[in-house]
Amino acid sequence: MSIIDRARPQVRALTPYSSARMEAGDAAIMLNANESPWAPPGDAGRQLNRYPQPQPQVLRERLAMLYGVEPTELLIGRGSDEAIDLLVRAFCTPGVDGIAICPPTFGMYAVCAATQDAAITQVPLRDDFSVDVEALLSTLPETTKLVFLCSPNNPTGGCMPRADIERIAGALSERAMVIVDEAYIEFAEAESAATLIARYPNLGVLRTLSKAWALAGARVGVLLADAPVIALLRKIMAPYPLPTPCVEAALVATDADGEALTRERIATVRAERRRLADALRQLPQVLDVYPSDANFLTVRLADAKASYQQLAAQGVVVRDVGRYPLLAGCLRFSIGTPQENNRLLAILAEAATGLEERTA
Ligand SMILES: *Cc1c(COP(=O)(O)O)cnc(C)c1O
Repeated sequence: MSIIDRARPQVRALTPYSSARMEAGDAAIMLNANESPWAPPGDAGRQLNRYPQPQPQVLRERLAMLYGVEPTELLIGRGSDEAIDLLVRAFCTPGVDGIAICPPTFGMYAVCAATQDAAITQVPLRDDFSVDVEALLSTLPETTKLVFLCSPNNPTGGCMPRADIERIAGALSERAMVIVDEAYIEFAEAESAATLIARYPNLGVLRTLSKAWALAGARVGVLLADAPVIALLRKIMAPYPLPTPCVEAALVATDADGEALTRERIATVRAERRRLADALRQLPQVLDVYPSDANFLTVRLADAKASYQQLAAQGVVVRDVGRYPLLAGCLRFSIGTPQENNRLLAILAEAATGLEERTA
């Protein structure tokens, strides 16, 4: 049995919309898509009067190379958020099927599932933020079609052991797609799970240009998966998902110079993560700084609300993650520039002095 047999029958049977750009690419005279024959003002040769390629070949090859997969094993979308939505729509029959998540984790999996009226099985992380693999495998209903694992996990920051990913993918090979969200993997030491796709056709990996590649505003993310899974999702994807300026921005950001710059910045983020964690641990109001493989630190504070307010009053906004299970009293600090991180530390240090004076 192929994992595609677990997708919704309606989607498997669907004849996708065939766009003009899909049917015919380039000719001297293009009269097939009801486009304007004239470029818009300020076009500068970009040909924004033309619909873009649904999956631009150059970008596909570039990202396939970057992530170590074949171009047919990659779907480029409007951020990895789009791939999450497509997966849920392709695999979960509303009111019947469901997804599984391990909270606390990224919120979009549950939002997409709720939108699709898909059930959500929650298998909470253990106290040390590790995934409880046996609990996950023993509690999943037969109707679970997708398991979302986030590594490094947002908002707890740690990576999943590769053996755990393999164990879950292997156990569910005939039942569910196992999706490993690697939005932050560039900041980790761990190897990407992308190299496991050849062995586990029910494994998918989400990557994004939104974090390490500094392109959150361009909305470019990918799903890496076995070619039939990619082909299935393309059937229900919008015909022209990728705006030409966003494709251009992605190509510039990932060319040789862009990649070198990105590598440097990743090194800076890692060094800053270490420095910030050490400095935060010296502060009296900081109870715990959790180990992070990502570009943020999740920190437990004596009074998170007060710290949040002190920072906000000085123009520094951080994320209150206290509403998540296991994270009461925690804030999440994105790693900024060294100057920005110094400012964060200075405000917290000053608040700590005030605290000590009041309690003295
Ligand atoms: C930021 C983030 C994403 C990125 O989403 P995009 O749509 O690619 O911007 C995906 N997953 C997690 C866990 C994130 O934190």
